[in-house]
Amino acid sequence: MPELVVDSVSKSYGSIRALRNVSFRVGDGEYFCILGPTGAGKTTLLKVISGLIRPDKGRVIIDGVDVTDFPPEVRNVSYMPQGYALFPHMTVWDNVAYGAGMKGLPEEKVADALKLVGLYHRRDSYPHELSGGQQQRIALARALAAGSKLLLLDEPLSALDILLNIELRYELKNLCRELDLTVLHVTHNVEEAMSIADRMMVLRKGVVQQIGSPREVYMNPANLFVANFLSEVNFIEGILRGIRLGLGVIETDKLGVIHVYTRPVRFWHVVVAYRPEDIVLSVDPPPTDLNVFRGRVVEREFIGIVTRFLVDVNGVEMHVNVWTSVAPDVKVDDYVYVHLPPRYGLIYPYPREGLMKAIAVE
Ligand code: ATP
Repeated sequence: MPELVVDSVSKSYGSIRALRNVSFRVGDGEYFCILGPTGAGKTTLLKVISGLIRPDKGRVIIDGVDVTDFPPEVRNVSYMPQGYALFPHMTVWDNVAYGAGMKGLPEEKVADALKLVGLYHRRDSYPHELSGGQQQRIALARALAAGSKLLLLDEPLSALDILLNIELRYELKNLCRELDLTVLHVTHNVEEAMSIADRMMVLRKGVVQQIGSPREVYMNPANLFVANFLSEVNFIEGILRGIRLGLGVIETDKLGVIHVYTRPVRFWHVVVAYRPEDIVLSVDPPPTDLNVFRGRVVEREFIGIVTRFLVDVNGVEMHVNVWTSVAPDVKVDDYVYVHLPPRYGLIYPYPREGLMKAIAVE
């Protein structure tokens, strides 16, 4: 099983800096997701690792060997590009068996790969007879069947409908584990990365934002961009007046003082982030005085398993998600209590460039 080290890699296209000093390590047999919005540099990074693009600076090391100057063919890396460049004149079977530059794979490997993606029964079809999602699954089968131990997948599940996407995530991960593969899986889909990755890296505008297990990244987003990219958040700006017994005292414009647990920090102009599911909404006053506000329901939206409320608290609009099964029976314009549990607030320095720029995905 190969280990991959990407060391200080930069790549520009003219004035566009697609990758800026990107460094990370992927261990033997690890399933590593690269998550980021469009234009983050994800595809460029996979191309640098596979050898299709030469970096301006930095090194790619596979299994202890510096392969930065090696051509793609000798890197023993399988790369499944975004989209699906299948050969239109070849059957599904032949597309998998004779990928670009391949001499032909053993029948058993081809059959296994086709069964994995659920298209063995379509082995005699031609690509144009398949749906877009099915074509992508053939491309996936081809990448898996090639047998390289380092597998690079660029948005492998994005063309699939949601149920198939979820089903295939687990099959993909299990198969990669069985085959002892080291995998880099690029996606812009947060939930997909969270559910499949052993560890993940968040990339934005060519810059690494955070690396860690999905849980670490979700529980402790390194910055406002990561917090906002992983899930919807409410932001509250304020001035940190002090920290008493771990509890930060934050003065805000419209909510007065709020309290949030925090480690010692060196900044005072802060933004506190609360996820909608971490805020408690109730008709009756909650059994605490800390961070409890009265607000008016502005919107109520049923979206199935959760109900989303938009509540106006002294001019601050807060998104609150409540399990539908326990959602209080309140309507628009009703007054409710909103409680911000101090342990769920995430504190960040107020960004120099302004909040909107700090969280923008483009
Ligand atoms: P997406 O999810 O949309 O594919 P990505 O994260 O994979 O995005 P890249 O495709 O690596 O991002 O692109 C990173 C940046 O480099 C973008 O601003 C893109 O427009 C630019 N870029 C990519 N390829 C080229 C190229 N061949 N010439 C010029 N600019 C490019």
